[in-house]
Amino acid sequence: MDVSKKRLRRHALVYHSKPKPGKIEVVPTKKHSSQRDLGLAYSPGVAEPCKEIAKDVEEVYKYTNKGNLIAVISNGTAVLGLGDIGPEASKPVMEGKALLFKIFADIDVFDIEVDAKDPEKFIETVKAIAPTFGGINLEDIKAPEAFQIEDRLKEELNIPVMHDDQHGTAIISGAALLNALELANKNIEQVKLVVSGAGSAAMACTDLYVLLGVKPENVVMFDSQGVLHKERQDLSERQMNYATAKKYTSLAEAMKAADVLLGLSVGGIVSPEMLRSMADDPIVFAMANPDPEIDYQTAVDTREDVIMATGRTDFPNQVNNVLGFPFIFRGALDVRATKINEEMKMAAVKAIAELAKKPVPEEVNIAYAETRLAFGRDYIIPKPFDPRLIGEIPPAVAKAAIASGVAQGTIEDWDQYAKDLLE
Ligand code: NAP
Ligand code: MG
Repeated sequence: MDVSKKRLRRHALVYHSKPKPGKIEVVPTKKHSSQRDLGLAYSPGVAEPCKEIAKDVEEVYKYTNKGNLIAVISNGTAVLGLGDIGPEASKPVMEGKALLFKIFADIDVFDIEVDAKDPEKFIETVKAIAPTFGGINLEDIKAPEAFQIEDRLKEELNIPVMHDDQHGTAIISGAALLNALELANKNIEQVKLVVSGAGSAAMACTDLYVLLGVKPENVVMFDSQGVLHKERQDLSERQMNYATAKKYTSLAEAMKAADVLLGLSVGGIVSPEMLRSMADDPIVFAMANPDPEIDYQTAVDTREDVIMATGRTDFPNQVNNVLGFPFIFRGALDVRATKINEEMKMAAVKAIAELAKKPVPEEVNIAYAETRLAFGRDYIIPKPFDPRLIGEIPPAVAKAAIASGVAQGTIEDWDQYAKDLLE
């Protein structure tokens, strides 16, 4: 292990263990210093809201924290790039997600780590605890079980459910794609897209890009066994949507003259030669973590005209899910949406893409030690510490929820709502 990795390891372990173990705690929101306060907070006063809720279950949103409480739930089967490390070992990640929800969107989270690899058992567990929550963020669950789990929970619960590893990635990279295409002056309906990877992130991203306008017949997708072609017997129904008639012999062959490469597979599999063979102004989203399919520096050294994004914080254009999930759930909770549907995801994509085109406030430049971030090849998506995200994305998502008929509540005054969000 090199010195910087050793130092990071030491700092991370101290950070997580001191002064208190873990990253989150519960904080009361009501007065609790007198006998009277306690008589309201607990017995006997607490019986009154219980009775109101028993009469009308909707009142739970009025008298409890349900409406601002998300469950971040994992079974620890696909944690970061670490694989199936089990529920306990996934807990630091889920606590981390709780921290991000809180600091970026003031949403409270209970992290829940479930000892259930069997999808049915997992689904039953989540359904049984759902009454506690205003929404469910599924996290780090391995494919294909994650697809089945998400589909069923969306179907069977009336609160928003989102598997962030799929849809968060799709939404942020979808915003980046729209902006990259604009900069490259390419028409989404004509671009040739090569996808390396056919797992949960790659499938969700490709499905969303198709909703944005990419033609499925212009997609060529690869997994570890090679190209997805129509004669393969091992593909899921969803993967078959992108199976080609042509049996490309390699990723290199498919990348010739391609406009966009989406990498959600493994590091280091794209060479400079492969990048050189792409069309003019190639768009490369190399998002395998921690090592991208081709590293940022190699890509920009190979071609001046490349528009490059990765999953890494240390280079421009990081596709970071934190640009999405806190704000998408904020908007969904605020109008009591029963789902996070395609319309809401699309609204988030557009809001994120548009924000990148607006002048960047000085505090964002300062936060990232930059002098003048501006829309262009090195800045196709906003930065996570952009304070405008909370003012832009939740209203867009909330409006889409209302327009698409999944909102149970409404917002009377949108200007006031945006102001409140920014406070
Ligand atoms: P996953 O469900 O395990 O899928 C991985 C996919 O990559 C599988 O289809 C696998 O094929 C394929 N693959 C493996 N080796 C390959 C190779 N040599 N050539 C082509 N395809 C290959 O994982 P995931 O959750 O989708 O994530 C994939 C990668 O993207 C990870 O590195 C993850 O960290 C990264 N990611 C980044 C972001 C971000 O930066 N914002 C977000 C999500 C994911 P088989 O099915 O044949 O094994
Ligand atoms: Mg994750």
